[in-house]
Amino acid sequence: MTARATVAAMTAYTLELREAEVKLNQNESPYDFPFKAEALAKIAERPWNLYPDFESTTLRTALAKAYGYEADNILVGNGSNELLAAAVGAFVGPGTPVVFPKPTFALYEKLVTIAGGLPVPIDIDPATGELPLDAMVNTLTTLRGAVCIVCSPNNPTGGVLPPEGLEALLATGATVLFDRAYGDFALDTLSPLHDQLVTFSTFSKAWGLAALRVGWLASTAATCREIRKVKLPYSLNIVSETVAALALEKRDVRDVNVARTIAERERMLAAMRARGITVFPTRANFIAFRSPVTFDDFLARGILVRKYADFLRVSVGTREENDRFLEALS
Ligand code: PMP
Repeated sequence: MTARATVAAMTAYTLELREAEVKLNQNESPYDFPFKAEALAKIAERPWNLYPDFESTTLRTALAKAYGYEADNILVGNGSNELLAAAVGAFVGPGTPVVFPKPTFALYEKLVTIAGGLPVPIDIDPATGELPLDAMVNTLTTLRGAVCIVCSPNNPTGGVLPPEGLEALLATGATVLFDRAYGDFALDTLSPLHDQLVTFSTFSKAWGLAALRVGWLASTAATCREIRKVKLPYSLNIVSETVAALALEKRDVRDVNVARTIAERERMLAAMRARGITVFPTRANFIAFRSPVTFDDFLARGILVRKYADFLRVSVGTREENDRFLEALS
């Protein structure tokens, strides 16, 4: 069977599967969820023969309460990946220009390509790693009906938008899809709702629940209604929904994870700089860097990092894992 030409020309989203003692390649939390028994008991109480609540009302209401929104400002999904796909489906059609920094999370360009949109990547300055806000604003101003996708802190470089950055992007009239997957590690605050702005969050990073696949988005009720038309029904199962709702009751889990990760990140940054390694400024739970030690050198020492065209990225792990990484770097 032949796929559509755009799909046939694409490469699949892949991850090189490698075994390593120290796994620092996927920006995961190194801390497992500490309330598994309580979560499992709650899951056992729910009927498994019936479909989950069509609207995921319990979780949306809990998120609204936790973040100061109304439930109709929120959609939940099977990881923020699913919601990004739904939003691109709602806003990007054949020929829609979509501006995003490069490098960034590879999924954005794939989703845009599948939708028939026109990817407009804007290079990040390879010397500083900072997000190219001015160039993105300038480009958006010249485009009609554009969409902008931006991730802050940006994956894989770690840089953040300046405080006025989001407003500057919205002022161009573009629809802005703002991915704050790593925002907790930058101690960000959620922006006020705006019809042209959709904010994506996830339980996969700071909450340490990547295996559960729960993401959520926030926007005005009108914009959420449009995205909901594209999203698959019942994509969030009762296991994920129950664990995410429980996590929100245990806010300390996130706060402790974030505090430990920030402390370790700063320790790693200082140690790497002291060794003369070029690091990009980062507010995320990972560090992009250039060093004479290669991906294969790290792997030979049992450490899996992520390889990009001209730099490497390491996730912030436990203290012991980070020590192993720093030793390998010497
Ligand atoms: N956005 C960014 C920038 C990411 O790096 C990732 C995961 N690597 C996601 C979204 C997807 O997260 P989720 O697990 O919620 O689908």
